[in-house]
Amino acid sequence: MPQTSNRIRGFGESVIRRTTRIANQYGAINLSQGFPDFDPPAEIIEAGIKAMKEGPHQYAVTWGSPDFRRALAAKQSRFMGIEIDPERNIVVTCGSTEAMMAAMLTVCNPGDKVVVFSPFYENYGADTILSGAEPIFVPLKPPAFNFDPSELEAAFAQGPKAIILCNPSNPSGKVFSRDELLTIARLAEKYDTFVITDEVYEHIVFAPHQHHYFAALPGMLERTISCSSLSKTYSITGWRLGYVIAPPAIIDGVKKVHDFLTVGAAAPLQAAAVTGLEFPDSYYAGLAEEYTQKRSLFLDWLNRSHLSYYQPQGAYYVMVDIGEFIDGTDFDDVYFSEWLIKSVGVAAVAGSSFFREPVKNYIRFHFAKKPETLNAAGERLLKIRELWQADHA
Ligand code: GLN
Repeated sequence: MPQTSNRIRGFGESVIRRTTRIANQYGAINLSQGFPDFDPPAEIIEAGIKAMKEGPHQYAVTWGSPDFRRALAAKQSRFMGIEIDPERNIVVTCGSTEAMMAAMLTVCNPGDKVVVFSPFYENYGADTILSGAEPIFVPLKPPAFNFDPSELEAAFAQGPKAIILCNPSNPSGKVFSRDELLTIARLAEKYDTFVITDEVYEHIVFAPHQHHYFAALPGMLERTISCSSLSKTYSITGWRLGYVIAPPAIIDGVKKVHDFLTVGAAAPLQAAAVTGLEFPDSYYAGLAEEYTQKRSLFLDWLNRSHLSYYQPQGAYYVMVDIGEFIDGTDFDDVYFSEWLIKSVGVAAVAGSSFFREPVKNYIRFHFAKKPETLNAAGERLLKIRELWQADHA
């Protein structure tokens, strides 16, 4: 038999999706894979129905339908505070997953180094391997998930081609402060490095924290490749609509890579999503408010269950410290998350899948769910200690 590529041996099945599979198998409430169980805005659904009836049904322009790019440029120019040209600065992709992959393939040669903060969203590991790059991991140290500027500079001193910055951060819920971003900016300039951002949670930020777009920092526009998507902002993760925003010289490369990866994002869905992109600013304030309420609701259940966690500043995840259950035992977070599914009936992702360092005392929940789902999970979590003791006496 011929051998399959070495490339695919570098990474395994997504732990997030594996957890979803096990959760479904045991009928657990799934707070592992981050996606909403509520509907997108009714206007977007209506626009989707109209697009299905009236088209377009054939390929859009490969780098995005003109209407979608025009609406996206207007919205992102307004929020990012930079001028975005729909013709020269945008490629519409199949989700931010493709946006990140296309960005990596556009800037990296095999063997190039890329700085990745750890814990990190698992795609970045696979993205580096698929693009032939080598990650240099810089820890975001729990429990506060801060980085040490000298460790970051030591990573930059190794001459990386790019740094990947997920802000607001999955899985930690950290929102990088402007000062932290300026530290990264100073190093990116000093060591002449691209900055590839993943900003899909840009509109899910909890006061008093604020999201600062990296591309809008002084002098950063020319080296920043901003990746994001409509998935989280409009609760349409299955529509797979993402995008890259970057200077023309980079975008020209991304256009080519994207064309040969996927040709384009779904044309009728691009047409329908214009409705969302044209929502007034009050929609985004409302979204942040809704998630602030979901966060309070879920953190309240964690408090009542006496679980300790890092208070998320943005995104819709919370890292819960399970050290009190497993420290000094042979059990780890992978065991714990499977036990949680089977015995408590709630699914969370084993935290070690996000860390490069041997950190095994976290599990990640998400709270992008209806209040009734969060309450049902919370009721179950109240019994976590009792059930753990019963099973591990
Ligand atoms: N971004 C979501 C999460 O982190 C979904 C991930 C996925 O399906 N791979 O859970």
